[in-house]
Amino acid sequence: MTTSGFDVRPNAHPTDAAIRDEILGNSGFGRYFSDHMAHIRWTADKGWHGHEVRPYGPLTLDPATAVLHYAQEIFEGIKAYRHADGSVWTFRPEKNAARFRASARRLALPELGDHDFIGSLEALVAQDDAWVPTPASAAEETSLYLRPFMIASEKFLGVRPSKEVDYYVIASPAAAYFKGGVKPVSIWLSSNYKRAAPGGTGYAKCGGNYAASLAAQKEAEAHGCAQVAFLDAVENKWVEELGGMNLFFVYRDGRIVTPKLTGTILEGVTRDSIMQLARDEGLTPEERHISIDEWRDGAASGEIQEVFACGTAAVVTPIGELVSDDERIRLVDGGGEIGKRLRTQLLDLQYGRREDTHGWLTRLA
Ligand SMILES: *Cc1c(COP(=O)(O)O)cnc(C)c1O
Repeated sequence: MTTSGFDVRPNAHPTDAAIRDEILGNSGFGRYFSDHMAHIRWTADKGWHGHEVRPYGPLTLDPATAVLHYAQEIFEGIKAYRHADGSVWTFRPEKNAARFRASARRLALPELGDHDFIGSLEALVAQDDAWVPTPASAAEETSLYLRPFMIASEKFLGVRPSKEVDYYVIASPAAAYFKGGVKPVSIWLSSNYKRAAPGGTGYAKCGGNYAASLAAQKEAEAHGCAQVAFLDAVENKWVEELGGMNLFFVYRDGRIVTPKLTGTILEGVTRDSIMQLARDEGLTPEERHISIDEWRDGAASGEIQEVFACGTAAVVTPIGELVSDDERIRLVDGGGEIGKRLRTQLLDLQYGRREDTHGWLTRLA
């Protein structure tokens, strides 16, 4: 049996339907996984081969496997949404495929074509269709979170690009990222740590960036904050992004500003989509540098009315205050009407409740 060129080996012991439904009703984020995973192998001599969907389960890795030592690894995050008619769709997968190739180039991993990347999502969702939750209402933001990733799997301790690589996609049913609805969060401004530096891996979606952000995340939590905001590594002045989400600043006059991509910021698909939706709304999106002083002064004067973070996992999340060792930058009204409106529009589009005028949806099942 094949789905778009993938050999399918069905799981002989799939999760019992009653247990699966229980999981789908209370999934949280990233805790449960579907019955299958997609896999493609790459070797320097054969290229990409062995496309398969096989039962979800542990990988057996030699202790000398390169990725365990030198972190030659990249990943993606994209969701499958069930529409009211039962069909399953994903959002702008060619953007994730292109970013995955950009990450691969930076980490000296082989590039995977659109056909294989999108095909792997289709093949997995075709097999695990029952794991895509059906939202009971628009308020229930449930989806199947898809996690493509690629690892250096050669057994070798020398430092050079691996000649063996494995690509997988796993799937995890997801409820709304923040329990209890969308509330403004407090963000910690890290002064001890940087996320990315010019020439580094900031624009690549690689595990190493996340490993390096965890100490800052611990600091954030110790200060009662949900996430970390990072400033640039050179001047310690320009606002870049959060550990895993991009930032937007909404001005009183309708400008909506996001930090410009200079190689140290991850190019979010949500970021790009928000800019387009903002334009459709008659707002004026701007990509430019924004300093921490502009954030402070704009919040104090009311010039900046809203700040929000965005990404696939948490969609749009309002930021109520920025906390650092020596100050708290609070917004006058942290509720954020424009962020809320853009959030609803994006979700309505993704769940098929609003016309897909930009051709952003791809049907998976
Ligand atoms: C994944 C990610 C984002 C958000 O990207 P989306 O494509 O919108 O999900 C933002 N910043 C970082 C560091 C990320 O890893």
